[in-house]
Amino acid sequence: MPEKREIKIDTKVVTMSSGDCTQKVNADICVVGAGIAGVSTALEATRLGREVVLIDSLPALGGQAVNSIIGIFCGLFSNGPKPYQFTHGIADDILKDLGEAGALHYRHGQHNVVMYDEIALSRWIESAINKAGVNVILGGVLSGVKTADRRVESIDIATRYGDVMVSANSFVDATGDAALAWQAGLPCREPAVGSIYGTQMVVIEGVDTDKIPDRNEVVDRLKEKAEDYGLVRQDGFAFAFPSRGVALVNMTHVETPLEPLAASQKALEGKAQADKAFNYLKNEYPEAFADANIRSYGLPGIRQTRWIVGSQQLTIDDVRNGTKFHDAIARTSWPIELHDREEGYVWEPYSDDHVHYVPLGSLTPPDVDNLLAVGRCIDGDLAALSSVRVMGPCIAMGTAAAHVLDLAGKGSVHDIDINKLQERLKDNLVNTKELKKATVK
Ligand SMILES: Cc1cc2nc3c(=O)[nH]c(=O)nc-3n(C[C@H](O)[C@H](O)[C@H](O)COP(=O)(O)OP(=O)(O)OC[C@H]3O[C@@H](n4cnc5c(N)ncnc54)[C@H](O)[C@@H]3O)c2cc1C
Repeated sequence: MPEKREIKIDTKVVTMSSGDCTQKVNADICVVGAGIAGVSTALEATRLGREVVLIDSLPALGGQAVNSIIGIFCGLFSNGPKPYQFTHGIADDILKDLGEAGALHYRHGQHNVVMYDEIALSRWIESAINKAGVNVILGGVLSGVKTADRRVESIDIATRYGDVMVSANSFVDATGDAALAWQAGLPCREPAVGSIYGTQMVVIEGVDTDKIPDRNEVVDRLKEKAEDYGLVRQDGFAFAFPSRGVALVNMTHVETPLEPLAASQKALEGKAQADKAFNYLKNEYPEAFADANIRSYGLPGIRQTRWIVGSQQLTIDDVRNGTKFHDAIARTSWPIELHDREEGYVWEPYSDDHVHYVPLGSLTPPDVDNLLAVGRCIDGDLAALSSVRVMGPCIAMGTAAAHVLDLAGKGSVHDIDINKLQERLKDNLVNTKELKKATVK
């Protein structure tokens, strides 16, 4: 029994101060959005000795990679049977540390990807950000941007604990929806018609992963039976993580509007769709899923909503032709994967030796000197963006952004020495002899 002791019962009465209670924060670099692109930027910038503040509207780090349970790193490796690694930086540390912890599962094939345990990735990010000394503001929603003389000077953040004003020498928009560029009054792009569909991901446990049928079999049967189960999407799959007895289900299509009430309504509809997909798996493939349960629902998975107008737009032809830009900063060979219709998506894969590049120009809004976008809100046409928004190139964009801002100092991101930048980024741009081959197993 705990020991009985004296209880202190003193309290004080407090009222909100009528003055300006806004907390002021200063940093060299302010990154808004703590998804994989923002985390990569923040960690690389601290390695370069910069003081960084990292903000996210969620009360957690990791963006969609963790909280929407994306679960698979795509675009990190080249295609075919002898893959090499396209992107290094924090990707090397994640692969090493999660690999040692048994929290990775490599899927080898024409497209080489690696599944990860989202809880392990979440703890890796939290610990790396903490160790690097990044100042973090969680649960902080961007509510205003002040600009003057082609520079973002400060941003306003609203949190449940009060308002914060962050001033910095430079800013990175890693929000996925170009929230910083949008609130700065800069031109942005959205799909001209319709919407790019998102997905409600779920993790199911108690799966007999050896008995999950072949992907083509699931897709063929889904086409026939989707309507019977009330499913709007007629493709998708349950990806097995064999050592954990779990599977990651990506079988729904949900609109992702940028209007608050509609966005909330769609989030609820996404969960209802996910339940129907689970029901389909259980009924159609009882040998694999009879004893399975839904372990967790991710937050709504959002693919492409609003993005910046950059100094240059990456196009579908650049992706198909592998245009090697003079200012290339990242590369991948991931297919065009455009979720532009409810029932399915466009999938345009490339050959074993194919590589396409991301130019720095697609990260830089032309009318601002100290702002870069990274991740899924850089400038591309709908199809090009649907390839380079996967996590491999998102990590590389973050690394590049940190170096661009380091080189720009108090000057302009438009005036940096591109040769110096590419020398720093060479591991992510070319395969030198010293480069380690991919550890795809
Ligand atoms: C369902 C689905 C499946 C996918 N599958 C794969 C896959 O298998 N492999 C792969 O590599 N990629 C996949 N992708 C793509 C990939 O997951 C994303 O494009 C990538 O994670 C984007 O990272 P990001 O850092 O750019 O953005 P996000 O992860 O979206 O991070 C943006 C962050 O900004 C914050 N934010 C937004 N607005 C504000 C604001 N106003 N104020 C403050 N913070 C804000 C958000 O809370 C969020 O945490 C998938 C995407 C989806 C939706």
